[in-house]
Amino acid sequence: MQTKVIVVGAGPVGTVAAYYLAQNGIDVVLLEAGSDCAQDLRASTFHPPTLEMLDRFDITKRLIEVGLQAPVYHFRERQSGEVIDFDMSELSDVTRYPFRVQCEQYHLSRMLAEGIAAMPNADVLFDHHVVAIEQDSTGVDLYAETPLAIKKLRADFVIGADGANSIVRKWLGTEFDGFTYPEKFLCLTTEEPLQDHIKGLCYVNYVSDPLEWMVLLKVPSLWRILVPAEHSESDAALLSDAKKNDVFERLIGSGSTVRTEHRTIYRVHQRVAKQFLDRRVAIIGDAAHLNNPIGGFGMNSGIHDAFNLCHQLTGIFKSGWDADKALAQFEVQRRTTTHDFTQAQTIRNLEYLSDGRTKEHSKRKEELLAIRADPQQRRQFLLRQSMIESLDKEREAA
Ligand SMILES: Cc1cc2nc3c(=O)[nH]c(=O)nc-3n(C[C@H](O)[C@H](O)[C@H](O)COP(=O)(O)OP(=O)(O)OC[C@H]3O[C@@H](n4cnc5c(N)ncnc54)[C@H](O)[C@@H]3O)c2cc1C
Repeated sequence: MQTKVIVVGAGPVGTVAAYYLAQNGIDVVLLEAGSDCAQDLRASTFHPPTLEMLDRFDITKRLIEVGLQAPVYHFRERQSGEVIDFDMSELSDVTRYPFRVQCEQYHLSRMLAEGIAAMPNADVLFDHHVVAIEQDSTGVDLYAETPLAIKKLRADFVIGADGANSIVRKWLGTEFDGFTYPEKFLCLTTEEPLQDHIKGLCYVNYVSDPLEWMVLLKVPSLWRILVPAEHSESDAALLSDAKKNDVFERLIGSGSTVRTEHRTIYRVHQRVAKQFLDRRVAIIGDAAHLNNPIGGFGMNSGIHDAFNLCHQLTGIFKSGWDADKALAQFEVQRRTTTHDFTQAQTIRNLEYLSDGRTKEHSKRKEELLAIRADPQQRRQFLLRQSMIESLDKEREAA
């Protein structure tokens, strides 16, 4: 099989890339190792610039229909109950969507995969697990394991959107610099109406605490609770009823009566690939960079990678742009934004939540209160946390 572009991985980032290219008349094949787009519970927050980008696919309306609109988010002090609130409605002069949409990431992947499969110049092949890649001066050979055989495919260009363990990144041989947080992250979901137990809770809450910081997020049918756990605690202990009971006992005063729908353990990393590009192969999304989930930037920044790269590829294939120059621009812009914004901001966001007992936290809280009180600083903060500022900077630098 021969095509213009092969995208590896039908997560949110790969499906966005494949849809963009197919919509622009470029032949594309999307390969996915699983037998469907995974029902993945990780990302739940879509930021305003991402919603604007997805408008092009007529998908934003549908995400808003299945999700929740969250204009307000809270930084809360768990012990004192103090709340510092931010309202994205203040950004209504710069975005059509001055709110976050709270909606699980698999809705996006599934909507887009269906749309791609319906386009005449595109294909989605599930049960295709890419195992090897080789490039030469005219194209890229790619080998995928299917239930029956190893299939060989060839394309002018390959996009690796195959997540944290990306085989495409490994074949590029690029380093994946950074670090892994020592603690584990436990995510519990429940139908328990937390808003009935905790006064004034909004849909997105970052809760600081010296002993157990947490994130409380609402998606349409569930609350998601993210808490840190000692590395030494076994996975079995973390997934036990005893642990679940403890977490809810401390949170709402009753643990054993709370039912959970899911219990998941994550290891969390801050890593950026040294190269996002090697001649005819590029990596985007989690394949290229990983960060902690505080702020909800991982999937969003991957989607921003996909739009940037596919804009350049469309120019190359459709308008004869100089390929080396266009692709180099993608790499410089997205690596710069990843380092200067996504990595830096997520590290700061997690420090804010977890430093609860130290003088440093009191200082940071005073700073946040000062930002909240000053209209100009507050606007800058809202622009940064909603990812508008980083994309504006990227455009200015271009
Ligand atoms: C607890 C938690 C909460 C999060 N919350 C948010 C949030 O609110 N907002 C946000 O923006 N981000 C969030 N993130 C991060 C977000 O989930 C990821 O950044 C996002 O899923 C990355 O998307 P992706 O498409 O690059 O990779 P993935 O979603 O990992 O998809 C990769 C796809 O590639 C496929 N694949 C892998 N290897 C192969 C292969 N060899 N051949 C073929 N297919 C392959 C996989 O099966 C998978 O379908 C969160 C992360 C965690 C852990």
